[in-house]
Parts: sequence; structure tokens; C-alpha cells
Amino acid sequence: MRTPIYNISPRLHPRAESLRSREMLSQSLESGLLVPQGLIAYGRGEAFDYLFGERTIPAARIAIRAAAARIILADRPVISVNGNVASVAAKGVARLSKLTGADVEINLFYRNQERIRRISGVLRDAGIRDVLGVDPAYQRRIPELSSERRRVDSRGIMKADVVVIPLEDGDRTESLRKMGKLVIAVDLNPLSRTSKSASISIVDDIVRVIPQMIDQIRYLNRLTNEEIHIIATSFNNSANLRSVLSYLTKRISRLSTKRQGRK
Ligand code: ATP
Ligand code: MG
Repeated sequence: MRTPIYNISPRLHPRAESLRSREMLSQSLESGLLVPQGLIAYGRGEAFDYLFGERTIPAARIAIRAAAARIILADRPVISVNGNVASVAAKGVARLSKLTGADVEINLFYRNQERIRRISGVLRDAGIRDVLGVDPAYQRRIPELSSERRRVDSRGIMKADVVVIPLEDGDRTESLRKMGKLVIAVDLNPLSRTSKSASISIVDDIVRVIPQMIDQIRYLNRLTNEEIHIIATSFNNSANLRSVLSYLTKRISRLSTKRQGRK
């Protein structure tokens, strides 16, 4: 019998959120929704999150706002979902999709029919009626990509102008950019190829990003199109990533000069 870690309060454990994500990912592994490699990918993200102090840093907040503006202005936004995202953020993705009209498409590095069936089940349970990336009749291949990530839906990512790709791999990010898409990545590793090649890289945990993105979209929806456009176009991804790294180095150097046991 499992410990009910879902209910652990942040007051009782400083790492309650990450314990909850770990628990959800472990259960997804048991049910066949996730592959073991997904746990390793989470671990890499979690290590970065530890260094950031497990909170949304100011540069990420700016990137979230720019991403929200791009999603509002998009004609055909699509949110790409893999096993990790379905495990920890299915409900959030459903809310974001409902609010913005963005389509949701399953895209997997380790692709097989059983995983697709399970992930689409989780997304449907979360309230997404039409999950793309499932029906082989609409499957297309994006150029220059050899991994299973190349399979996209002709009604979704293939046609999209803005693609949100949480926890992506670098190769596909680069291919999507070459296809002329505006790519919004969510990746805790500011040094990954994904972060470096996306149009907007949100360096933060996906679990924290989605509710903040929803808040930003609600806020921006009250502004004029021109104001939203200014927020979208004034964002500079390389400058933002530099500020993420500068935050990280300053924090590490501050921590290294503090005495053990002090905050
Ligand atoms: P790239 O191919 O872009 O260089 P990578 O090889 O470092 O990336 P992948 O395994 O391809 O990494 O993708 C997983 C990425 O997802 C990791 O960089 C990790 O930081 C990030 N990640 C894992 N869990 C989360 C999470 N909960 N929120 C945000 N990012 C996460
Ligand atoms: Mg990779």
C-alpha cells in the first residue's frame, strides 16, 4: 500500500510539490503511461529546480507573460503533450486549452499504441474532448527528424503557428523552428538545446507554469491587441536566458558564502 503522499502539505515538507510529482510519475510508470526515461528527465529538471529555489524566478515570470501574449495572438495554437506532462499537469493543460482554444496533441519520443491510448485516456478524463496525435489517418512526418517525435497531426502541430512544447527534446524544437513555428518551451534546464533554440523558453516547473499562464492570459485579455502585441514582440529569448543564468550563478554564490543551516 502506498503512502498518501498526494495529501502532504507544503507546511509539513519543504519539498511537498516535488514529492507529489514523483508520486504521480511513479504511478504513471506502473500503469504504462510513462517510460523509465521519463523519470530520469524529471530528475534532471528537479535538480535545476533545487538550484533555483523551487520557485518561479523573475525571468521565468517575464517569459510566461510573453508566452501568454503569443498564445492569445495565435491563429492556431497547439499544446504538445508527452507522458511526463500528462502525468503531472493533465488538468492544467485541459484548463489552458479551454481558455485559449488551443488544441492538445500527444507527441512521444518513445511512441507506442498502448502509451498513446493511456495518455489520451488521461487527457480525456481531464476534460479534453478531441485529443490530436492519436488517429493514424491524420499522421504526418515533419522533415529532418529521425525520432518518433517526427510524427505529428495534420490538423494540429502541422498547421499550428504557435506550439507549446513542455519537456521537449532539442531536435524537434529545432525542426519546428525551421518550419517557421513560434515555439514556446517549458524546460527547467536553461542550457538545453530546447531552451536555446525555442522562441520563448520558460525555465520553470511545468506544474507551476500552467496556472500562472492561465492568470496571465486572463489579465492580458483585458488589454488591447496593440498592448498584447507589444508584450509579445518586446521579449528577447537570449537576453532572458542570460538573466536566468545570472540569477542561478548569483544564488549559488550567495548560498556558498552562507553558513550551513542558515536560509
Ligand atoms: P535537449 O535535447 O533539449 O538538449 P535534454 O536532452 O537535456 O534536452 P530531454 O531528456 O530531451 O533533455 O528533455 C527533458 C527536459 O525536461 C530536461 O531538460 C529537464 O530539465 C526538463 N524537465 C523535466 N521535468 C520538468 C518539469 N517538471 N518542468 C519543466 N521541465 C522539466
Ligand atoms: Mg535531448
